[in-house]
Amino acid sequence: MTYQDARPATGLQDAILRHLTYTIGKDTAHATLHDWRMALSYAVRDKIVDSWFVSTRTAYEAGAKRVYYLSMEFLIGRLLGDALVNLRFDAEAKAAVEGLGLSFDAVLHDEPDAALGNGGLGRLAACFLESLSTLACPAMGYGIRYEHGLFRQSFEDGRQIEQPETWLQQRHAWEFERPEAMYRVGFGGHVADQDDRAVWTPAEAVLAEAHDTPVVGWQARWTNTLRLWGARAGDPLDLKRFNHGDYVGAAAAEMLARSISRVLYPDDTTPAGKELRLKQEYFFTAASLHDILRRFDSEHGDIRALPDKVAIQLNDTHPAIAGPELVRLLHDERGLPFDEAVDLARRTLNYTNHTLLPEALEKWPVDLMRHLLPRHMMLIDRIDADHAAHFPARPTPIVADGEVNMGTLSFVMANRVNGVSALHTELVKQTVFADLHALHPERIVNQTNGVTPRRWLHACNPRLSGIITGAIGEGWVGDLEQLSGLEPHLDDAGLQDAIAGAKRANKVDLSNWVSATHGVSLDPDAMFDVQIKRIHEYKRQHLNILEAVALWQAIRANPNAGWTPRVKIFGGKAAPGYVFAKKIIHLINDVARVLNADPVTSPFLKVVFLPNYNVTLAERLIPASDLSEQVSTAGKEASGTGNMKFALNGALTVGTLDGANVEIRDHVGAENFFLFGMTAPEVVARRAVPDHAGQAIAADPRLAAALEAIHQGAFSSDDPNRYHDITGNLRGPDYFLVCSDFTDYWRAQRAVDAAYRDGAHWTRMAALNTARSGWFSSDRTIRGYMADIWGATSLRPGA
Ligand SMILES: *Cc1c(COP(=O)(O)O)cnc(C)c1O
Repeated sequence: MTYQDARPATGLQDAILRHLTYTIGKDTAHATLHDWRMALSYAVRDKIVDSWFVSTRTAYEAGAKRVYYLSMEFLIGRLLGDALVNLRFDAEAKAAVEGLGLSFDAVLHDEPDAALGNGGLGRLAACFLESLSTLACPAMGYGIRYEHGLFRQSFEDGRQIEQPETWLQQRHAWEFERPEAMYRVGFGGHVADQDDRAVWTPAEAVLAEAHDTPVVGWQARWTNTLRLWGARAGDPLDLKRFNHGDYVGAAAAEMLARSISRVLYPDDTTPAGKELRLKQEYFFTAASLHDILRRFDSEHGDIRALPDKVAIQLNDTHPAIAGPELVRLLHDERGLPFDEAVDLARRTLNYTNHTLLPEALEKWPVDLMRHLLPRHMMLIDRIDADHAAHFPARPTPIVADGEVNMGTLSFVMANRVNGVSALHTELVKQTVFADLHALHPERIVNQTNGVTPRRWLHACNPRLSGIITGAIGEGWVGDLEQLSGLEPHLDDAGLQDAIAGAKRANKVDLSNWVSATHGVSLDPDAMFDVQIKRIHEYKRQHLNILEAVALWQAIRANPNAGWTPRVKIFGGKAAPGYVFAKKIIHLINDVARVLNADPVTSPFLKVVFLPNYNVTLAERLIPASDLSEQVSTAGKEASGTGNMKFALNGALTVGTLDGANVEIRDHVGAENFFLFGMTAPEVVARRAVPDHAGQAIAADPRLAAALEAIHQGAFSSDDPNRYHDITGNLRGPDYFLVCSDFTDYWRAQRAVDAAYRDGAHWTRMAALNTARSGWFSSDRTIRGYMADIWGATSLRPGA
């Protein structure tokens, strides 16, 4: 039975009204927007469930190898629009909702943005889930059901303010609670030796409760599950204390247990090093492995077949404790010999590296590990000794200087280790894992990231999507390489006009929204120059704002030089404890205030920082962007995926040779990409030059003047010293080489200005970016993982 066959005979409107009445318990006269949105979501969810059951049954009957994606983060965003598009139900839903006298847009925008992740890593996991379903790969995502996702950002006098995020205050429309899938996860305690077997007796235990969200693929071909674990107390109420009148104390265990799934750590590049974080990591990893083995047992007999039937992917080192945990389950609990347990675990697990930043590589103090997970610490030592015994000539210890190196642990326990872009994978081989790579030369492979074209083009940019489908048919949505079919049509003036018209209409929509919500008016004919991503020194938002200051000075000095009007749009959150990143946000807002109030320059240059960047805001901004800022210091950005979303939507990139920018430029053509800056090897050499920043400043009066204006308080007259730490850093160590790349960045930006003035040529370059970005589909990435890492096959013929 396919989903189409399962479609109930009643119309969608009837289904909505039925859910409003019998699930929500409201009548139409009193229903709020939220009630209607929930009713529509339940009606849509019903349709997904049909496909879900078919997929589950098919996977079971095929006895197929299953893929498990373990990720601390899933930045899924809103699900209703995505589900409607994948079910091919969007037009019908719009008609049904409008037929009920409601605004379809308002209903869609009522859904909270599920921000169970920080940025790129979590968004990648979400794109992968959708592609796994589209490709009918039997798979499951495992993560944590955070009560509070990434904080909500607002600005107060230009400063970032963080507020708790409350997506679960309302019922989550898409999830199914699974109280029957509940596991006990232990912490602490001691390990005893009983008849040559280690027996771990934890001091405390919490329960992991499953919550399932179906993830429907394109055309409802297949539906996989995202299973998120919520923490609960093993014993919710201490009855003895309760009966003695200590009501608060009686509930303390529940509070403590629930704290494990309470909040997402809001730091994307520096591990928190906190006990609660390690608890979160073990909590969801242990629950997931229990669940995986339970499912394996129910389908297969011999545990030795585990690597043939199960592939587990660790998204970064956050679930790295899976190595020792799986060894513990196989050795301690199932009695396999240690060597065999390690071998089975290693052939089942794989690890994705996401960063080379040394401060981002997770390490846990041995004392903390031993205190929280005493048996695992013993197993880590044994795995370490075992590995050292096999390779005595090249010691690469997992445990060193009183710390457990989770990257080394992940590598040693993995069948395959992958980087996320060609450049990054080479750097992984040459730097962080150089020694391990020499010992295991087959282990590291590359899988360049991708994004799902359903959310990131078809759904978020219906105008462009419609034009593409008109030109080449709709096969591209499920097979993005078909976009290359656009190229022969690009000489057709009608198509060029349509593409330019769609971009302009998207910009008008964005301008109207920015004006209505933030009171800033933008000229839709100006170039929309966009940098949206987490705020980090290596991503160099300060290079971008420095160029804005220099440009402002240049326009003031010569207002009639024929400047290309430009709006610089920023978005992104800084980790609450990352002082320098928060300073950058403040500086951008201060510069924006001064520039936007300047009557001479503001017709040519405006700066806007939109608060609370999230998936929903990305979906709004990217289709309306002309220029994509991808300006990280070469060698620092592992891949980037924002860069791919922009290129796909016809924005040109100004960027460095970093991460997947390299491959984007290869695909779209060097003549359709604004390259600037040093290469990764040049960066390393430049850093060794004494006073590189001072030299760069001395050689470029524009850079010197822009820095001096910031230093003198031109944008912070109430506190002229406010940015001395930024200017001091840039004039001094400038580790991320902002000054050394500035002059070439300025040059590239003026080339961008000139290109934008030739509208027809710009449109052609933009359209070529779309036509040549088909390779950056996460479907291509997942096919790569299936073939090179998991040995998994699609259960849909021809997929
Ligand atoms: C795509 C995306 C990211 C990743 O952006 P990069 O520019 O690759 O860092 C981060 N956050 C959100 C909300 C995204 O949609």
